[in-house]
Amino acid sequence: MEDKPRRALVTGGSSGIGRAVAESLARDGCDVGILYLGDPEDADPVRTCVESFGRKTWVRVADVSDASQATAAVEDCAAELGGLEILINNAGIFRDQVIWKMTDEQWQDVIDIDLTGVFNMSRAAAPIMRSAKYGSIVNISSINGMRGKFGQTNYAAAKAGVIGFTKALAKELARSTVTVNAVAPGMIQTPILDAMPPEALEKAVAEILVGRVGTPEDIAEAVTFLCSDKARFITGEVLRVDGGQYI
Ligand code: NAD
Repeated sequence: MEDKPRRALVTGGSSGIGRAVAESLARDGCDVGILYLGDPEDADPVRTCVESFGRKTWVRVADVSDASQATAAVEDCAAELGGLEILINNAGIFRDQVIWKMTDEQWQDVIDIDLTGVFNMSRAAAPIMRSAKYGSIVNISSINGMRGKFGQTNYAAAKAGVIGFTKALAKELARSTVTVNAVAPGMIQTPILDAMPPEALEKAVAEILVGRVGTPEDIAEAVTFLCSDKARFITGEVLRVDGGQYI
């Protein structure tokens, strides 16, 4: 555990991968802010877990796709926790549909949350990290942003956009000792998978080399490493955590 204070903000921290990341960062010594969309009590379990490690929490229901809500959340979280060294852009949705049936809304919602949300949060956090001359930003992309997936032109475009964004921002922030990386998960056991028909799930698992879907903790370990002092020489990288599904 490092001596200096480490304050993190995790978007979509109430559920799935974001929740596991919040808990893992707390275990690693971070105070953790959690921002998500949903009911106020949705974050109670993660708040309890973070506090069980003796760490502070900050919790806010806000929409990352709304620039003013995102900016206010970043500024308030940093003020409440006393600084902000880590930003995890994890909040995301999917609205799958083949392009010939995709509505403007299905396209726009995914772009607004999965891509513009990453921009809104990072733009608000960058000045704080630049003036501290220290920070780590980790953006959650997807292997489907690298290889595409049937029915996901919107999601693949947003997640590929996150990868380009990550590399450009890594170049802008490197001189301020801020690292910017992306993690590209494969198929992870979160509420998203519960809705998948069993045959489709079986077919998908067959292409994962290690023979199982990933856990939110598999992703959280990778994210926590990228935010640690062990990873200070890694920036602009895209780390696939997919059990070999992509290759
Ligand atoms: P999830 O549905 O369990 O959690 C999504 C979180 O995002 C929730 O906390 C929700 O409140 C929050 N959220 C949604 N819209 C928001 C908004 N507009 N503003 C603020 N918060 C919002 O999903 P998950 O499976 O844990 O996915 C987390 C991330 O990982 C997403 O970016 C997703 O695209 C990515 N991902 C997931 C998988 C997978 O198989 N589960 C694979 C690759 C990538």
